[in-house]
Amino acid sequence: MSDWARPAPWDHDRSGARITRVRTICTAPEGQTLVIVKVETSEDGLYGLGCATFTQRASAVAAVVHDHLAPQLAGRDPAAITDIWHALNTSAYWRGGPVLNSALSGVDMALWDIKGKRAGLPVWQLLGGRCRLSVPAYAHASGRDAAEVEESVRRLMADGFAHVRCQVAVPGARTYGVPAGAERAWNPNQYVSAVTRTFDHLRSSIGDEVELLHDVHERLPPMHAVRLAKSLEPHRLFFLEDPVAPEDLDWLRMIRTQSATPIAYGELLTNPAEYRPVVHERLCDFLRCHLSTIGGITPAWRLAAAAELAGIRTAWHGPGDVSPVGHAANLALDIACPNLGIQEWHPFSDAVREVFPGTPVAVGGQLWPSDAPGLGVDLDERLAARYPAVAPLAGSGWTDLRLPDGTATRP
Ligand code: MG
Repeated sequence: MSDWARPAPWDHDRSGARITRVRTICTAPEGQTLVIVKVETSEDGLYGLGCATFTQRASAVAAVVHDHLAPQLAGRDPAAITDIWHALNTSAYWRGGPVLNSALSGVDMALWDIKGKRAGLPVWQLLGGRCRLSVPAYAHASGRDAAEVEESVRRLMADGFAHVRCQVAVPGARTYGVPAGAERAWNPNQYVSAVTRTFDHLRSSIGDEVELLHDVHERLPPMHAVRLAKSLEPHRLFFLEDPVAPEDLDWLRMIRTQSATPIAYGELLTNPAEYRPVVHERLCDFLRCHLSTIGGITPAWRLAAAAELAGIRTAWHGPGDVSPVGHAANLALDIACPNLGIQEWHPFSDAVREVFPGTPVAVGGQLWPSDAPGLGVDLDERLAARYPAVAPLAGSGWTDLRLPDGTATRP
C-alpha cells in the first residue's frame, strides 16, 4: 500500500474486497480515442469499468489516473464511492476541469460497476430502480440542403425515431454536424439564415408528426443566438441546444426572456460554479452535461436531483466520443431519474460493439436498459489493442475553426 492510501476512519469495517490495481485502457475502434479506467479488486474476477474519455486530451487523463489517482486508491474499500469521490476531488487542492474530472469519472463509474456486480444488480437498481420501461432516444439527421435533411429525417422516422436532431450545411462554410469539406471558415449570419430556412422547409414538408432538435454547438455570438431562438419559435423545436458558449452563459437569461424556444444546455460545463446558476435560475429546459467531464455518476445523480427540483429535465450528452461504458452510465440515470427528458444516441459501429460487449443499442427509437449486474458493458482488451489510440487533434482537426477574416473561433 502506498503512503497515499491512508484508509478512511471506518475502513476497518471492511467488506473484504480491496482495490488492488487501477489503470487506463485507450482504444479507438471508430477512429477517436476512448479512455476506459479499469479498477481491479482483491476479490477473484471482480473489477469495474468507467468512462474517462476526453478524446482531445486522452493521454493527459491517463497520466492523472496513473500518476495521481491510482496510488491513492490502492488498498481502499471499493464500496466507499462517495467518500472516494470527494477525497480524490480535493486531493490536488485545485480541482475540476475536463482532464481531472474525466479521470475522476473513470474511477467513479468503475466503482458503481463494482458495487452493482457485488450486489448482483444493475446500477439503475442502485439508483432507486426503474421510472420507465425504456428511454426515448434522438438520432442525428443532416444534409447539404433542406431537402437532403428532410430525406435524412424521414429515414430516421422510418426506423422508429420520434425525435431527430437536424443539422444543415452552410454553402462555403464549415458547419457543425455535417460532413466537413475543405472549408475552414464559418459565418454566423449565413448560418442563422440557413438553419431558419431549413426548419421552415421541414415543418412545411413533414408537419408536426416528429419532434425536431438543433445543436448550435456554442458557436454563435449572443445576439445571433437570440435572433435564432426567436426565428425558430414558430417551428416548435423540442429543444435548441447550446445556443451560446459557457463564456456567454449569462446571455441565456436574455434568450429566455425573448423566446419560447426550449433550450438545452450544459455540454461544456465542468464545474458546479457554472451549472449551479443554470439550474437555480432555470436558465434551460434540458440539462445535458457530459457525464465524464463533470466527474461521473456520483455528481450527475446529484445534479439530476437538483434539476428535478427546478423543473428541468435531463438530456445527457451522448456522442461517439463517449464510450459504451459512458453510454451505459447515461442509460442507468435515464431509467432511474424521474425527470428524464431524452437521450442523445450514437449508432456505434460493429468494431466498437465487438470491443465492448454489452454496448447499448437503440431499437425502434428507444434504448433498453441491461439487467446485467453493474453497468452491463465489458471490454475485450485483446480486441481493444487492435485499435490503438490515435494522435490527439492538433491544429487540423474539427476544433480548428476560423471566421472569414481568419480569426480563430469556437468550434
Ligand atoms: Mg451538442
